[in-house]
Amino acid sequence: MSISEKITSEEAIRLEDKHGAHNYHPLPVVLERGEGVHVWDVEGKKYYDFLSAYSAVNQGHCHPKIVGAMTKQAEKLTLTSRAFHNDILGKYEKFATEYFNFDKLLPMNTGAEAVETAIKIARKWAYERKGVDEAEAQIVVCENNFHGRTTTIISFSNDEGARKNFGPYTPGFIKIAYDDPDALEEVLKNNKNIAGFLVEPIQGEAGVYVPSEGFLTRAKELCEQHNILFIADEVQTGIARTGKLLAVDHENIKPDILILGKAISGGVYPVSAVLADNEVMDVIQPGQHGSTFGGNPVACAVAMAALEVIRDENLAENAEKLGNLFRRRLNDFIRTSGIVNLVRGKGLLNAIVIDDSEDSSTAWDICMKLKENGLLAKPTHGNIIRFAPPLVMNEAQLNDCVDIIIKTLKEFERE
Ligand SMILES: *Cc1c(COP(=O)(O)O)cnc(C)c1O
Repeated sequence: MSISEKITSEEAIRLEDKHGAHNYHPLPVVLERGEGVHVWDVEGKKYYDFLSAYSAVNQGHCHPKIVGAMTKQAEKLTLTSRAFHNDILGKYEKFATEYFNFDKLLPMNTGAEAVETAIKIARKWAYERKGVDEAEAQIVVCENNFHGRTTTIISFSNDEGARKNFGPYTPGFIKIAYDDPDALEEVLKNNKNIAGFLVEPIQGEAGVYVPSEGFLTRAKELCEQHNILFIADEVQTGIARTGKLLAVDHENIKPDILILGKAISGGVYPVSAVLADNEVMDVIQPGQHGSTFGGNPVACAVAMAALEVIRDENLAENAEKLGNLFRRRLNDFIRTSGIVNLVRGKGLLNAIVIDDSEDSSTAWDICMKLKENGLLAKPTHGNIIRFAPPLVMNEAQLNDCVDIIIKTLKEFERE
C-alpha cells in the first residue's frame, strides 16, 4: 500500500488498530485535509475543528505563510545539530526573545521536553544561585496538573491512567491544590529547599479550570518573597489562545521561566521553547542540556512565521472578542438547559460541563453527534467538553458553530 493510495475511514481505523499502539482513544473520524478553521475526512465531509490539536493550530490549518516558510527552509537546510551554528537560529532567538520580552531562549521540540528543561534549569538555579543543598531541591506543582508524559512529569501527576505502573517515580515535587495561594504560602514558608512553582495559568487538560482573579499575581508575589522561580507552563494557554498573547498577561505577570510549545509552530512542526532572563538561563552551560533537533533550521523558520501570523492577524484580539461571544451565547442557552451546567474559559479556550457523572458516556455521545453535525470536539475527564477552535475564525463562522453546538445539545435534553 503506497502513501498516496486512497483509503476509506474504516480501513484507516482498522490499520491503526492492528498496527499501532493503543495509547489514544480517538473520535472515529479520519482526516485528510485541513484549511483554516476546517478539516475534511477521507469521504469528503467537512468539519469545523473545535480542538485545534489541543491548541497547537491556533493560526488555522496549513496556514500558507507558515507552510511556505517551512517548505522554503526545508529545500535549503533542515538539520545541522547544535554541533555547528546555522544562519537562522540566532535570528529566531532574537526575534522570539524580543517578542516575549526575555533575555534568552532554549529551543526544544515538544512541550514535555520544554517542561523537563524548565525543571532542570530551576533545580540547577536552586543549587548554584540560591544555595539549596545538593539533591534537596523541590518544585511545587498543582493537583490535576498536566505537563506532559515523560517519566519525571508523570511522577507528579495525579491522573491514575498517566501514572499507574510507570514507577518508580522521580522525587522532588510537592503537590498543592490549584488556585490556593494560602496553600502555596504554607509550603514556601516551611521549606527552604524550594526551587520553583510550576503552574498552568489555566488548567487545560484538567477541563479548562480558570483560577480566581488575582491567584497568579499572589502566587508571583509569594515566589518573589521567598526567592522561588515562578514557572509558567503556557504550552496550551500561550500564544493568543486566551485572548492575550500569554495567559499571564491577563494579570500582567512576567514569569521567571516561560514554557511554550504547541502553537509556537502553528501546528505544522514540533517546536517548543523555554524562555528566561540571563540570571536564570545562564546556569546552563555547554554540554549540560540539549537536543539533536532542538533549534533546527526548519523549526526556527516555522516558529518565526507562526509568531508573525499571530501578530499580523491580531489573533489575540480576535480570540478575546469571539470568546466573549461564545460564552455569552452558551450562557443564554444554559439558562434554559438541563443538560449543560456551565461554560467556562477565557478567550477561545472554553469548556462546558455536562450534567452527568464523570463515568457516563453522555459527553462522548454528544461529541459523536457534534461530529455528525459537522463539528469536531473531544471530551476530557468524562463529562467535560473542551471547545478550542483555530483563532482565525470569523464572527459568522463562530455563530454558525454555536448554532451547531446548541442544536446538538438540545437533542440530549431530558424530558
Ligand atoms: C500539551 C501540553 C504539554 C505537553 O506537550 P507535548 O508537546 O504533548 O509534549 C505540556 N503542558 C501543557 C500545559 C500542555 O497542554
